Amino acid sequence: THGPTAGGGTGAAAATPDWERVRADFPLLQRQVHGKPLVYLDSANTAQKPRAVIEAVDDFYRRHNANVSRAVHQLGSEATDAYEGARRKLAAFLNVRADELVLCSGTTFALNLVAYSWALPRLKAGDAILLTRMEHHANIVPWQLVAQRTGASIKVAELHADGSLDLEALYAAMTPEVRLLGLAHVSNVLGTVNPVAEICRQARARGITTVVDGSQAVPHMPVDVAALGCDFYAFTGHKLCGPTGTGGLWARRAHLEAMPPFLGGGEMIKEVRFDGSVFNDPPHKFEAGTPNIAGVVGLGAAVDYLSGIGMAAIHAREAALLAHATEELGKIDGLRIFGTAPDKAAVISFAIDGVHSHDLATLLDLEGVAVRSGQHCAHPLLQWLGVGTTCRASLAFYNTHAEVDAFVAALRKVVRLLA
Ligand code: PLP
Repeated sequence: THGPTAGGGTGAAAATPDWERVRADFPLLQRQVHGKPLVYLDSANTAQKPRAVIEAVDDFYRRHNANVSRAVHQLGSEATDAYEGARRKLAAFLNVRADELVLCSGTTFALNLVAYSWALPRLKAGDAILLTRMEHHANIVPWQLVAQRTGASIKVAELHADGSLDLEALYAAMTPEVRLLGLAHVSNVLGTVNPVAEICRQARARGITTVVDGSQAVPHMPVDVAALGCDFYAFTGHKLCGPTGTGGLWARRAHLEAMPPFLGGGEMIKEVRFDGSVFNDPPHKFEAGTPNIAGVVGLGAAVDYLSGIGMAAIHAREAALLAHATEELGKIDGLRIFGTAPDKAAVISFAIDGVHSHDLATLLDLEGVAVRSGQHCAHPLLQWLGVGTTCRASLAFYNTHAEVDAFVAALRKVVRLLA
């Protein structure tokens, strides 16, 4: 097996992981780009995959491939067991019930499912949807579509200068017409970690349904969804070292029972007649058609892998890398970091006076350093920051202090070239 070297589940790891060995679990990190060793600082965009995940997908197709929940033959039951086993692993990882976890293609699908199945039938003119300034487009546009079709309005909670939520303003905005709050657990641009449990408590006291976008939280810290007290929690598998096109939506059973299906087809029914169909029980009611079975199996392997290291250890490792990178970047003249909240994940958005972020990212790429440049699917936030675009360096536990140093050295070189 290719599991990591220290155990510990999502709590405290038994021993400090051997980070060099952990890094060696990721084949892609060995490669070169433009003749330079790759320094991959785009994990907030998508994470690299450990061998255990790649091999789980490969093994599924080599030895167990069949459709789920349809055939009585041996392979059919192996595929179903593998798929449902992965659901149980994910549920345990998030501390939720497996029958409350809908598997889907990722956060975008999950949030649209809530928008179409929960919000669209319920909201009406005069209702409001409350969002925050730091939301990703995936937690804005579905609500705009709902607002357009129902006549509901959208309210926005603003931020402090350091990129943390203005909680007083947020609570003041929770007025009686607000039916739903859409909230990022962690911002993909600022890195801000929001106090979700307290915010959900305040929302719940006012009868507001909470939809949390956990895309950037689940990969980087222990997340106990049950303890957050939200109504819906969405996440995406590819940022969690799993395959693309995987993810899930956790929702309270009562919501899942009450919601109509989003998509119709096979798997999501018990019985179909031309005069009406009987839907399957949740979560299957929301999983129409053949799912990404191999992908979900790979995501189960990713959860095993991450739990083997321990999410607390991963969080501590990334905090150390973030502190080092923030300190070194702070020494570069004219460099501004967007997002300096005290509780911050390892995402650094920055700009350098007089230099376009695309030029920076393009020249950094020639040095082997992969960062993202642009608006990071968060146009309203970038408008508020008052910059057209930023560069974003996002770190993961498989990065090293030496890579941070290589990135900063490359950045200095690039800035000299562009100045
Ligand atoms: N929300 C946040 C905060 C994100 O960072 C992302 C990632 O791009 C998404 C939503 C969308 O995730 P996906 O494209 O996997 O659906």
